[in-house]
Amino acid sequence: MIEFVVKSDSDRGAVHCPRVRCDECGLTIDDANWGNVYYDPNRADGGAPAIFLHKPCSRSFEERRKDVFWSWEEMSVWFVQLASNARLDRKRSEARARRLESL
Ligand SMILES: [Zn+2]
Repeated sequence: MIEFVVKSDSDRGAVHCPRVRCDECGLTIDDANWGNVYYDPNRADGGAPAIFLHKPCSRSFEERRKDVFWSWEEMSVWFVQLASNARLDRKRSEARARRLESL
């Protein structure tokens, strides 16, 4: 899941920031290269929820959820696809994020 968490910073105090949590083990996925995003392809045109998993947790998820023939993307690729679908202007957005972080 993607969630907002409070991140403490000694200079700025508490800051809310998004992070990805593994839907299998519950721990934070802090490297997109070590994550997969699963979805049910039979629900893809009806709003299939994205399931975030550490790559090592993908096997246990598939073993536990054999009721569906899952499709998946590497998390790093999924984020690029999401940014493209959201028409993200990466340079502009990064500049904006830096500006907001400096407040
Ligand atoms: Zn995990």
